[in-house]
Amino acid sequence: MTYRAPVADIAFTLNRIAGLSKLIERGLFEDLDADTVNAVLEEAGRFASEELAPTNRASDTQGARLVNGEVLMPEGVTEAYRKWVEAGWGSVAIPKEHGGQGLPFALSMALTEMWNSANMAFGLNPLLTQAGVHAIVAHGSPELQQKYLPKLVSGEWTGSMQLTEPHAGSDLRFLKTRAVPAGDGSYRITGTKIFITYGEHSMTDNIIHMVLARLPDAPYGTKGISLYLIPKFLVNDDGSLGARNDAYAAKLEHKLGIHGSPTAVMNYGDNSGAVGWLVGEPNGGLHAMLTMMIEARIGVGMQGVGIAERAFQQALQYARERKQGTTDAAGAHGSVAIAQHPDVKRMLLNMKVKTSAARAIAYTTSVAMDIAHHSPDAAERKAALAEAALLTPIAKAFSTDIGVEVASEGIQVHGGMGFIEETGAAQHYRDARIAPIYEGTNGIQAIDLVTRKLPSNGGETVQAFIAGLKETVCAVKASNEPAFGAMAEAMEAGTAALEESSQWLLRMLNENKNAALAGATPFGRLFGLTAGGVLLAKGALAASREDGPDAGARAIEARHFAETLMGETAGLKHAVSHAYETVNQADAVLGTL
Ligand SMILES: Cc1cc2nc3c(=O)[nH]c(=O)nc-3n(C[C@H](O)[C@H](O)[C@H](O)COP(=O)(O)OP(=O)(O)OC[C@H]3O[C@@H](n4cnc5c(N)ncnc54)[C@H](O)[C@@H]3O)c2cc1C
Repeated sequence: MTYRAPVADIAFTLNRIAGLSKLIERGLFEDLDADTVNAVLEEAGRFASEELAPTNRASDTQGARLVNGEVLMPEGVTEAYRKWVEAGWGSVAIPKEHGGQGLPFALSMALTEMWNSANMAFGLNPLLTQAGVHAIVAHGSPELQQKYLPKLVSGEWTGSMQLTEPHAGSDLRFLKTRAVPAGDGSYRITGTKIFITYGEHSMTDNIIHMVLARLPDAPYGTKGISLYLIPKFLVNDDGSLGARNDAYAAKLEHKLGIHGSPTAVMNYGDNSGAVGWLVGEPNGGLHAMLTMMIEARIGVGMQGVGIAERAFQQALQYARERKQGTTDAAGAHGSVAIAQHPDVKRMLLNMKVKTSAARAIAYTTSVAMDIAHHSPDAAERKAALAEAALLTPIAKAFSTDIGVEVASEGIQVHGGMGFIEETGAAQHYRDARIAPIYEGTNGIQAIDLVTRKLPSNGGETVQAFIAGLKETVCAVKASNEPAFGAMAEAMEAGTAALEESSQWLLRMLNENKNAALAGATPFGRLFGLTAGGVLLAKGALAASREDGPDAGARAIEARHFAETLMGETAGLKHAVSHAYETVNQADAVLGTL
């Protein structure tokens, strides 16, 4: 099954819903104009569809394999990566002063969506490299920046991010990897990291690992973690490659999905100790990691959107071809494509609108990041950063949950053939399943949302965001557009549920934190459904005002989301405030721990 990048949808969501075009009109990106943005999207869409998408199947069936210490990549992937680098896709959103193209972060996230639709195992690699670039840009010494950034920015080398250890996953307090000063400004690192994405591979000459480790005298917990840059091959002062560093992949994991992405157990210091350099302050490693956490988490959210889009396209094509059953029009002896049955149409529409809503949230978060970085107005920058921080756990968790749901519905549309590997629908489902787990599980995202983001600025940020949603609801209502049906009422109920739940949680954070924690995941979903629904309505409103050719379709999309999916918000509101009553007594069911 081929993938066609939905460039028009992506451009509409970026510009009309998330508001990127307004930033461009304001001159926030120097001489960037709308035509250039469109040209970049078109060319990326072509590259994703024609060069990357054909590698997706071999990525899954062959996977990455560790043979005699070398990681062999699936057929076609190394070549596709080389072309990707040659085309300059690695440097899109990196600031110009660091050798990048300085294009908007939101645009780079649109491209991230396309790479991940085309081949999610491939798309993960640039995400991690770029997270490393951001860390070096923000915290690396001038020497490290000069030596490592150019080839990381171009994609000539890739990066890896290494936090996880056997006893330290969501909880990094017990991280054990050690870093000892070598007396010459470098450190010797020893320890084991697990689940390291692209920790080893054969696509590039060098891999630059960003590794969290502890100094010998480090304080307990997360305040005692430092960040180190450890190259696979040491780099000489003239830029040539030197000795092999003491950092090796001990094994690759066998996984449910993303088989083309090598997930390594990395051993440091089996011999003399891996040579590494401190990035940022001693014991400031978590802070340095947090710098790029927003970008990385939005990036994983884009994986959810990307895989949902691919699964939708595949299901739609299958439903148009597969004939079963009949309709009144076709008669008792007729046979119609399953896409003609109302229940299949409903599934396809669900898939489409969920994908669109997740896309709208993720791009809106990305545009907020662009404002936070590029607005000339300090107050606007601050408010935008707070909004981006608030929305990031939603962009990550809601979008990745949607990725799994849509991929699952895609299998359902295929019937039995969905369960059979050869259609490829099953691959999307298996690939999608990791995204709610890594880069902070979706449970951890919900906790971050409720315990940190909700109360930040005394609750002002969430109030301002909800006020913005309400403005759209009012505008939809005031439009009296018959095509919008009862959309405004559904959204009114959703925003009210979101507001009341936010206030309840803010109160609970002081009165009974466990009650807030028990309601965190339903709250994240309530937030995602409400924000997603209202953003789709914002798009429908913009399309109807412009009287464009897709105004009718956008109204139906937004209406379907609001009227058939947002009803869940009432139940979620109840779940937020009542989950604790039973969760608190769970031992009676689960047994005492
Ligand atoms: C394919 C793959 C690729 C990966 N790539 C990388 C990588 O490149 N670099 C890297 O460093 N790591 C990577 N990881 C690791 C990944 O980030 C972790 O698996 C993830 O953060 C969860 O940690 P864990 O597996 O230890 O689960 P745990 O932390 O043991 O969590 C298990 C469950 O408990 C819940 N939980 C844990 N703590 C709490 C809490 N305080 N409150 C409520 N619930 C809680 C979680 O939400 C989850 O549901 C990867 C993992 C996989 C599978």
